[in-house]
Amino acid sequence: MSTEKPAPNDAQQPQSAENASAAAKPAAAKSAKAKGSSVIQIHPAGERIHPKKAEGRFAKLRIAAVLATQFVFYVIPWFNWNNRQAVLFDIPERHFYIFGLSLGMGDLIYMALLLMICAFGLFWWTTIAGRLWCGYSCPQTVYTEIMLWIDHLVEGDRNKRLKLEKSPWNFTKIRIKATKYLLIFLFVAWTGITFAGWFNPIREFVPALFNGTAGGGAIFAAAFYGFMTFLLAHVMREKVCLHMCPYARFQSAMFDHDTLIISYDAERGEPRGARKKTADKQSENLGDCINCTMCVQVCPVGIDIRDGLQYQCIGCAACIDACDEIMDKMNYPRGLIRYTTEGALKHDYEEKDIKKRLLRPRVAGYGAVLGVVVIAFLVGISQRESLEVDILKDRGVMVRENTKGWLENSYNLRVLNYSENDQILTAKVSGFEEIELTGLPEGGLRIPARETVTIPVQVSTIPEYADKGSHPIEFEFTYREATDDAGKPGVLVEESTFIGE
Ligand code: SF4
Ligand code: SF4
Repeated sequence: MSTEKPAPNDAQQPQSAENASAAAKPAAAKSAKAKGSSVIQIHPAGERIHPKKAEGRFAKLRIAAVLATQFVFYVIPWFNWNNRQAVLFDIPERHFYIFGLSLGMGDLIYMALLLMICAFGLFWWTTIAGRLWCGYSCPQTVYTEIMLWIDHLVEGDRNKRLKLEKSPWNFTKIRIKATKYLLIFLFVAWTGITFAGWFNPIREFVPALFNGTAGGGAIFAAAFYGFMTFLLAHVMREKVCLHMCPYARFQSAMFDHDTLIISYDAERGEPRGARKKTADKQSENLGDCINCTMCVQVCPVGIDIRDGLQYQCIGCAACIDACDEIMDKMNYPRGLIRYTTEGALKHDYEEKDIKKRLLRPRVAGYGAVLGVVVIAFLVGISQRESLEVDILKDRGVMVRENTKGWLENSYNLRVLNYSENDQILTAKVSGFEEIELTGLPEGGLRIPARETVTIPVQVSTIPEYADKGSHPIEFEFTYREATDDAGKPGVLVEESTFIGE
């Protein structure tokens, strides 16, 4: 499988469009004819790519994906859950809230597992379905798509944009550009503000921003993300996918002969060539590709899918929509460019058998690792105590005699409350026939929600039970929510040692 091709802006179509079908008369072809050139440069090197708008079933899917992902991004931070923001990554407090899940610094393992789930989920999905993530839901693709919508809305489709680009500056051009950049500014500003709202309570941050009392950190986060959205999605666009995204490079390692790819069917399409709609392609010795270059014109990264699988292809399927439309106009079957696999293209199996190739060792391998990590996460989270107690031996005072004449050891209890409610902790200790724990307040120790409290306590016993050396003892902690006397208490048992005389 070829994955390396020349830079996309160098993509040239070494063919004539002089007899381009009535079904498709691209401006590029006309300009090539006008210049008497046989080489059509759809996206000339070094010039900004202005993709043509593609319409069809995959364009609709992309719109749905943009709406779904942006609903999550723009709307979820406004949801509340248990009287707080439903999803909030509270960096200063070092606490993350994801609906009912509350993760503190003691929960780094779960955050690591969540990241692993995302990573293996992506690997697994890429092995099955290729670049579906890139084409439909990667933030770079989605924001670029939104920027292209703005371009299209204000400046018109590809040909109008190209014309505007080349036209001299005048009042109309200034008005159009000013409108476009105003819309872009509003979009990136709101995007930046929303981004900051994932890390600062958005219902407080937005009013504070407008009345001038928002914190500098949050304002910086909003401005930075807004600027980066503008830079990456409007200024750099496809260059991010082509030159910056590491995923584009290493994902080919996850591809195999049965991975779903978007491909041009060269066997069916070649020899390509323009013809009349009524022409008999057999007698003219032509394949199904009428060489209209629509697939290249709609490509947001400026490549020609007919050159074979290229790492630059983000799998957006715009070329499928464009080509299907041409096939319909020519009364040819759809699917000259389609989702398929390398194996099906090579006739190793039928297209209808692609689904049967889903379960293969690589997919099963990634799926197994993903399954194990998901199970580990779910089991860990479901068994996670909302309270953790660390018993730290006071090394400064090993053993002493207290006022009762008993031997006494000192400890520090560090209690971490991961829950969103205050907890009341009581404790008892065992290990000798007679043993006493002192230092905890009457009625239990109150640990405020999401806080850590450290308290010194003492354990004492009659001297004859604790001869020289170290003796195992056991602390049993019982805790319950401060506002819930009737609920089942949680119990934690921790081992420690008592140093005798
Ligand atoms: S592959 Fe389809 S869209 Fe592309 S040039 Fe050929 S006919 Fe036109
Ligand atoms: S080649 Fe087709 S699928 Fe790939 S980026 Fe271009 S338009 Fe999208």
